[in-house]
Amino acid sequence: MKRRILILYTGGTIGMQPSEQGYVPVTGFHELLQQQLHSKTSQQLPEFELLELDQLIDSANLVPQHWLQIAGLLQQHWQQYDGFIVLHGTDTMAYTASALSFMLQGLDKPVILTGSQIPLVELRNDALDNLITALLLAGNYQIPEVCIYFNGRLLRGNRSTKLKSTGFDAFDSPNFPWLGQVGIHIELHGNLLLEPGLRQFLLPAFDAEAVVMLQLYPGIPARVVDALLDSPKVKGLILQSYGVGNVPDANEALVDSLAKASDRGVVVLNITQCLQGRVSQGAYATGSVLNRIGVVAGQDLTPEAAFAKLHFLLASGLTPEQVREQLAQPLCGESS
Ligand code: ASP
Repeated sequence: MKRRILILYTGGTIGMQPSEQGYVPVTGFHELLQQQLHSKTSQQLPEFELLELDQLIDSANLVPQHWLQIAGLLQQHWQQYDGFIVLHGTDTMAYTASALSFMLQGLDKPVILTGSQIPLVELRNDALDNLITALLLAGNYQIPEVCIYFNGRLLRGNRSTKLKSTGFDAFDSPNFPWLGQVGIHIELHGNLLLEPGLRQFLLPAFDAEAVVMLQLYPGIPARVVDALLDSPKVKGLILQSYGVGNVPDANEALVDSLAKASDRGVVVLNITQCLQGRVSQGAYATGSVLNRIGVVAGQDLTPEAAFAKLHFLLASGLTPEQVREQLAQPLCGESS
């Protein structure tokens, strides 16, 4: 029996059309797709239905509440379909893929995000290929996790990042092997896939202001940290530090600002600016200072996964101490 797939179209370049201001998302993706698919091709595809968000978004406008909307729609239709494709803008696709991986844990069906660099309406595009392959993957393979499929690569969602602004090979997971690759053949690395587990949909009410991110740079003054944390709404800080997790410890005011934030319950998560490798908070004195002030070492989390995980845990009603504990362990393959 043919598997049934739900395509959730949220916006993004894949369904955009030119306007005087540049590309904008437009409704009617289903008709456009049907025009592009020849009847012969569609016979080989799994059965699919398409659902459009009422308000399509350029994903540069994404806010954490959109994660809730997307996850809610997937939950609502979970029983009726065998797999799910989320069409999403590429700009923040890795954030949404990460967030969905925390919200939809222990999956027994694939959730594959894809999009394109050139819209489907254009003569030369990567949209049709990305969508057709995502459909074949969702319809014919057991992939029990949230992934991104893009330009021949199947990537774990919470390990992915957008590396190229214009290349078709826009996405990669530089710190984790690909889950699969698609060339003449479709090759999946089954040993890397998550095991289906106890399905848990956890859809907390996100507060967009709860998490802030700060990339360190040479000479950063303490007042930048203070300004960023100057709101009782801020409950978490992602610190993007150097190398294996080092900060300028010679800047006592900066370390003091971080320590004070930590003391008043702000959860500080330390990740590296490097694309590969992991945080080892204590290899250098410039890193071990963070161990003394309660900063959590972010292992090999991507910035997108760190941001989504901290948001998810803070929205889940945990105490700062519980959030710190959960951050230190992998929940769904996001860190090793
Ligand atoms: N700005 C677009 C978006 O993220 C870019 C894309 O889809 O490639 O929605």
